[in-house]
Amino acid sequence: MPTSSSIHSFPSSLISKPLKPLKPSFLTTFFPKTLTLTCTTSQPSKRPTSKNSRKSSYGTSRRSSLKKTFTQEQVVFTAPISDDPVVAIIGGGMAGLVCALNLEKRGVRSTVFDTGIHGLGGRMGTRIIDPQPLIFDHAAQFFTVSDSQFAELVDGWLEKGLVQEWQGIIGKLDVGGQFVSLPSSPPRYVGVNGMRPLADSLLSETSLVNVVRPCWISKLDPFNGMWYLSENGKPQGQFDAIVIAHNGKCANRLLASSGLPLIARQMKRLELSSIWALLAAFEDPLPIPDGAASSPFEGAFVKGVDSISWMANNTKKLLHSQNSGPHCWTFLSTAAYGKRNKVPQENIPNATAEKVKAGMLGGVEAALGLPKESLQKPFYTRVQLWEELVYVVIGYLVQV
Ligand SMILES: Cc1cc2nc3c(=O)[nH]c(=O)nc-3n(C[C@H](O)[C@H](O)[C@H](O)COP(=O)(O)OP(=O)(O)OC[C@H]3O[C@@H](n4cnc5c(N)ncnc54)[C@H](O)[C@@H]3O)c2cc1C
Repeated sequence: MPTSSSIHSFPSSLISKPLKPLKPSFLTTFFPKTLTLTCTTSQPSKRPTSKNSRKSSYGTSRRSSLKKTFTQEQVVFTAPISDDPVVAIIGGGMAGLVCALNLEKRGVRSTVFDTGIHGLGGRMGTRIIDPQPLIFDHAAQFFTVSDSQFAELVDGWLEKGLVQEWQGIIGKLDVGGQFVSLPSSPPRYVGVNGMRPLADSLLSETSLVNVVRPCWISKLDPFNGMWYLSENGKPQGQFDAIVIAHNGKCANRLLASSGLPLIARQMKRLELSSIWALLAAFEDPLPIPDGAASSPFEGAFVKGVDSISWMANNTKKLLHSQNSGPHCWTFLSTAAYGKRNKVPQENIPNATAEKVKAGMLGGVEAALGLPKESLQKPFYTRVQLWEELVYVVIGYLVQV
């Protein structure tokens, strides 16, 4: 869901004891929503145990209760940590990639494991359909910068031509076609060829990062001071430290065998909301209201429509010079609509896909103030269901 702060700094690291060979600053990971748990070495060769299995009294917010749990519970390893540790990062979305970059900066080797068949990036997904080409960012739409460390990183991306400012008009669209543009400051950034190409190029200059994909880490076993990773029974290596840089069922499952029951339980309590994305390509431009703006909007937060919360012209955003068709739009649903039409993400029944497509296109008509059934038929559509955390914490870091 595009928000002005969802890809930005979130320094929420919790440090109880720093990893020996690294400077403590290593732990102040600045990329989004990363919580840090440090584990120490003390007992002889034994599987790690929970240091404190007391039930925590949860604080007022998820974030504070997670912090509390993280300070209470640590895995204890016996063997000293290697002077040249190797870290496994499970998840090659933005959190995992920036974590790998930070480790590289400090001379620490890492391997990023990611399930992506088409590339890295996770929820920074871009779909390109040749030969036209049709192009859609189908989850993260843009990001803003409000943190100095992140700003430094983004400046580097700007210099390398990986990101650009999205200068199109963005605003609020009320049901019936009432559009009000929003200020263009702070700047909104997008990947030059979409979000996924940005993610894919982030590690291009690294020498200490290894990428393994597509690979779904199904199990991690802490044993004798190392973490053993496997994919459906196939060993994927042993590591001094692991970073779980994803959330949801998969992360909960991995945590279940980590020896951190409190944290595992706590993470299960995080609520995910379901968001449908509808990608649609049209032959002709959509009848966009200008409102007070001098030209049609390229992105709008939609209000008062049950099925749509966001719409963006991805052709204009990513291929701004192209004025003729096709016109590629990404529409995102509201969380309430996602919840009502929730199905297994990996296996969307055709009937649901059709129903969601019709419901969201109906929502587009309502938002634009068009008569029912008057919207031109898109010649290409695709729906996808995403899971997104309602509030915070996308990645979290488990470090030994
Ligand atoms: C519909 C939607 C729209 C959004 N719009 C915006 C926006 O406009 N602006 C913004 O700033 N943010 C937006 N966000 C939020 C933003 O996309 C996410 O916060 C961010 O991309 C999350 O990055 P991440 O690295 O934490 O997780 P992810 O991007 O989810 O990456 C996790 C990766 O780990 C992989 N993985 C999971 N389990 C395993 C495993 N066991 N083994 C190996 N790999 C695994 C996943 O396949 C995935 O590739 C949006 C999100 C959604 C869903």
